[in-house]
Amino acid sequence: MRPRKVPLRKCVACQEMKPKKELIRVVRTPAEEVLIDLTGKKAGRGAYLCGTVSCFRLAKKSKALDRALKQPVSPEIYDQLERDFISVEEAFLAAKDRGDDDE
Ligand SMILES: [Zn+2]
Repeated sequence: MRPRKVPLRKCVACQEMKPKKELIRVVRTPAEEVLIDLTGKKAGRGAYLCGTVSCFRLAKKSKALDRALKQPVSPEIYDQLERDFISVEEAFLAAKDRGDDDE
């Protein structure tokens, strides 16, 4: 096993520190849109969530994204993000299991 520095980020919902690749980034773009950013490279203020819908729902309930993005996030946006989250979750987990996304 090669020792490698794994960048850790905190999930804004459950507050756990996890490797970046296990988290889904939500970004507030300069145009003030709130989007899921699977590339992790979009410009804007980012917040990280575990790649599970349960953590997303926790964030929605506690309005964790509002705080993390320093912008009010409307219920409609949370609903839209939840749909996006569900649709990317499967692909996200499959990519994570391959475990070969070294940069
Ligand atoms: Zn979490």
